[in-house]
Formats: sequence, C-alpha cells, structure tokens
Amino acid sequence: MASLPTTAADIAAAVSSGTVTASDVLEQHLAAIAARETDVHAFNLITTDAARQHAARIDADIADGKPVGALAGVPLALKDNMCTRGVETTCSSRILEGWKPPYDATVVQRLRDAGAIMVGKTNLDEFAMGSSTENSAFGPTKNPLDLSRVPGGSSGGSAAAVAAGFSAVSLGSDTGGSIRQPAALCGVVGVKPTYGLVSRYGLVAFASSLDQIGPFATTVHDAALVTEVIAGHDPMDSTSIPQPAPNLRSAVGQGVARMRIGRVTDLPGGAEPEVMKRLDDAFEALAAAGAEIVDVTLPSIEYALTAYYLIAPAEASSNLARYDGVRYGLRAPASEVNAMYGATRAAGFGDEVKRRIMLGTYALSAGYFDAYYGKALKVRRLIADDFDRAYTQVDAILTPTSPMVAFAFGDKVEDPMAMYLCDVYTIPSNLAGHPAMSVPFGTGAHKLPVGIQIMAPALGEVPMFRVAGALESAARGLK
Ligand code: GLN
Repeated sequence: MASLPTTAADIAAAVSSGTVTASDVLEQHLAAIAARETDVHAFNLITTDAARQHAARIDADIADGKPVGALAGVPLALKDNMCTRGVETTCSSRILEGWKPPYDATVVQRLRDAGAIMVGKTNLDEFAMGSSTENSAFGPTKNPLDLSRVPGGSSGGSAAAVAAGFSAVSLGSDTGGSIRQPAALCGVVGVKPTYGLVSRYGLVAFASSLDQIGPFATTVHDAALVTEVIAGHDPMDSTSIPQPAPNLRSAVGQGVARMRIGRVTDLPGGAEPEVMKRLDDAFEALAAAGAEIVDVTLPSIEYALTAYYLIAPAEASSNLARYDGVRYGLRAPASEVNAMYGATRAAGFGDEVKRRIMLGTYALSAGYFDAYYGKALKVRRLIADDFDRAYTQVDAILTPTSPMVAFAFGDKVEDPMAMYLCDVYTIPSNLAGHPAMSVPFGTGAHKLPVGIQIMAPALGEVPMFRVAGALESAARGLK
C-alpha cells in the first residue's frame, strides 16, 4: 500500500478516477491510527464501522459511474464540538458525555456531500477553552512530533490527527487561535476564515461573535480545497455572509509578485528568538519572490488579549447557561431543581470552564458592565480600526503564529496567564473578524516546527492563500 496518495487533492483525484479505492485509502489511515493512537490520543471517538461503510458506498458509486464530490474518499477528522447526527458530541466535557445531536452541522453535511469520510471526533480543551488540549476531561492529546509535548489547543486533536497521518485533513474551530496555534505546534497548515465565511450552524458555541470553523491540512492547496467546500452562504446561520465560496486553489500558485506585505513594527514582544528568526526568513523569502515589505503599526493590539479575555468569557458565560442538567448530557441527582442545576454544573464543568464562566458573569454584571465588557468592546473597535488603516498600505500582514514552539506538558497548566499568552498574535484577527492562517516555516528551538501567521482583511482569503503558497514553496528550501 506504500504508493497510496496522502494529500486530500491526490486522494480525491485517484479515488474519482478509479486508480485507488476509497476503502484502501481508509484502511491505510486506520492502520496509522491502530499503530499510534494509543500514544497520541487524538480522538474522543473513532467511527471505524461507519467510515468503512461510507468508503464502500463511494467505491460502489464510482464503479457505477455515478458522480462523486471534490473530496471523494478523503479521510477526515472532526473536532468534537461539531454536531454529528446520532454520533456523540462531547466538547471534551463531562457535562455533554453521551449526548447525541439530532442533526449535522452544516460543515459536516457539506463535507459528506463532497465525499469526505469521517474517521472520528477529535479531542479538544473542554468547550475549546485552552491552548494545549490539557483541559480535556478525557486526558490530553500528545504532539505526534514529540510525545512529551503538547499539540497546542484547543483543536489539539484535529492538529495531531493530521500531523500523525490519521486523517488527510481535519476541521477545528478558532475563537482566539485554536486552529492556527495547534497547526503551528504540530507543523501543519491551519486556516481561520473570515467571520461569516463558514457556517457555524451545528458548532457548539463558545464565544459566538468570535467562533469560526476552518481546516487543518498538510498542504496549503488542501487547506484551500477544504475551505472552498465548507465556505459559502448558509441560511441556518444568521451571521453567514451571503456570498458563494471563493476560488482559493487558483490563488495558491499565483505567487506574490508586487504584493505588499506588512511587517508590524510595534508587535507585542516575548516570542522565542528562533521564532522571530523564522519571521525574518519569511519576509526575506517573500521579498525574493517579488513582494514589497512595508512597515505598519497596530498600536491597539497590545490590548487585544485583555479585551478577548473579557469578551470571550462574557459570551461563554451566556452560551454555557444552557447546560442545566435538563436539556443535555449529564444530570447530577439532587432533592430539588435549583440544587440539581448547581450540582450538575459543579460536577460537569472543569476548572478552566468554571473560571471563564465566573470571569464572564463578573464582566457582565450590573455595575461592572461598562467598566469591563463595555470597555473591551471599545478596544475591539480600535483594533479593527488599526487593521483598516494598515490594510490601506498592505495586502497581508505577517507575524509569528505562536510565540513559542510546542511546550512540555504541565509547563503552563498552573498559570492561566502564561497559557493565555500563547494567543497574543492570533487573537487580534478574531476580534476584527478577519481571516488568518498558519503555514509551517522551518523549525525553532528543539528542532520543533515554527508557524508563520498570515493575516488579511475581511474576505481577503485570496491574497492570504497567495502568500501561503509562496511561503510553503520557500519553506522547502529552509534548513
Ligand atoms: N486559547 C484561547 C482560549 O483559551 C483560544 C481558544 C479558541 O480559539 N477556541 O480561549
């Protein structure tokens, strides 16, 4: 089976043309899972039987000459906060254990229609709150490149699944960096599309004004392909942009000649020197490819982290009010209903989730609302204004994705502030609603992968993917 294709684009092409079967491709990925999943723990659930049936159906359709989709036979892993009809969806929380959604998320439906085969639901920080996947109620995921280190988070399972070859592509969700940061730490590509480009229908809400679904892949082209499949208007999500999916694959090979790429002169510090060195290398590579590097300033982003840790918990405290022991999953026994709510939430939520609910409830409470939540919204506006100003001068902006390479388990669990700092470069685009992605670009400390973040203005996915394609090519020449 050594000659089977590995990228989503190659798999779909080979399966559609009948050169290989979806079943053979699937078995190869199941074999990889069997070999390493006990060590990596990327999955909360592996759906082997359903995947085999789906692959057999695709092979039968192809034998019958029926048309198949753009992802025919492509093994896919889904973050376990996306609803799958009849299949457990836990958000890695005890409070949802055993809950089976009655419907599929729009992204799940679109991927299935395109022929992608779901192999399982991946582990995450509980309710997507975290940067290491250590906050999962079901135990951490390990970084496939070094099992003593975290894969990043919160979509650590989805990043690890792709990095370990358990699936060709996967989906994550990104509220403050949860796709881009684990992509960087696991050495894969991760995309957070423009807010509203991909439907959130069926994504379990964390902070609704920030949440966005996007892909992990091993190549920029695969990331473009999956984004095209999941993007486009959905009437089931009121924040969905009424526009068709953009053509992104054609952007990947276009090059960056005459593009203007921003270098942020007042970028918050604290990144590892090896990471900053890779950022310099990236600018150098883009300049060599014909781009013009332009200095820009984003004076308000130093407040982004603070604003995020008021806005996101505020929205979470409201979104998570629905887990009351009545409608979903867990119910703790108690003598009367109020005690039951309290006991269920005390038993069902982990420490970080409780911390966020308390932070958010406090920020929204009468007397503190204006001072905290209201102020944070003003900062959010200023950040968006900073970007608008910068994007009159440049087409895209480059920063590191994460200040550090993959860190060791336990390094930051005792210190929430240190964990929150992981997202210092990723959070600004969530606050602005802009697209951003991480592309692997060489290695840093301990020879671990470094990710470079490309940010672009709203609906600027085409220029973003042009830069991503150029960085991917340049990365091949790095030592
Ligand atoms: N690490 C950030 C947090 O803990 C971002 C999480 C995310 O994007 N879901 O909130």
